[in-house]
Amino acid sequence: MTDTIDIAANLAQVRERMAAAARRAGRSLDEITLLAVSKTHPVGLIEQALTAGQRDFGENRVEEAWAKFADPDSPESLASRLKTADRPRLHLIGPIQSRKASLAIACRPTLIHAVDRLKIAARLDRLAGEAQLVQEVLLEVNVAGEASKFGFSPEAVQRDAGVILVLPWLRVRGLMTIPPYEPDPEAARPYFVALRRLRDQLAQHHPQADWRALSMGMSHDFEVAIEEGATIVRVGTAIFGTRDA
Ligand SMILES: *Cc1c(COP(=O)(O)O)cnc(C)c1O
Repeated sequence: MTDTIDIAANLAQVRERMAAAARRAGRSLDEITLLAVSKTHPVGLIEQALTAGQRDFGENRVEEAWAKFADPDSPESLASRLKTADRPRLHLIGPIQSRKASLAIACRPTLIHAVDRLKIAARLDRLAGEAQLVQEVLLEVNVAGEASKFGFSPEAVQRDAGVILVLPWLRVRGLMTIPPYEPDPEAARPYFVALRRLRDQLAQHHPQADWRALSMGMSHDFEVAIEEGATIVRVGTAIFGTRDA
């Protein structure tokens, strides 16, 4: 089915909807980044999106991100197919297991969205230090308190933020959340509001850090997220179509 998908048209439509949502909220589209979530999709579709002007891509599995974006030794990867200046920006949006942390840093991601516990923050800091690079990260917060979800609880992020902010090789840029899935996008609004308020509190308590980024909103609710302050929306299905896996 993927060969019948018009990536450029889908991207144009998503951008149009983003612009409309930004207008409703009195916001500038310039402050909102569209992340094209390419997980499970082949490199060929990513190249189509690149040709259509898309620059930021999200992957949730570290090995898949490495193989598609970063592996210098694989003829299939974008790192070996494209000149440095033409390469997309990779965002890691899934939880990072401890044993994958080293590969995550090796991917040289623009942003790691889902730092969800103190231990992984400390490990990423150590590995970034070994690579002599400063890694930008977001802290994932489980605002709904769902037992099945990854992320800091709102209480834990307030308790642990001070420790994370002094890690020398990590730069916190803000927060990320995945609300519980409900078909009605309006159901996500309270969680987006909660994330923004939590961010405002953290910014007040820790003004030395940059808390600007709010990574929230997916294919079915990104417009609501933009109305509530999202600076990064993570959109897969609406750009690349449905996933088999
Ligand atoms: C898959 C995924 C998305 C994109 O979901 P769609 O509903 O396909 O837009 C966004 N964020 C995360 C963390 C994901 O894993």
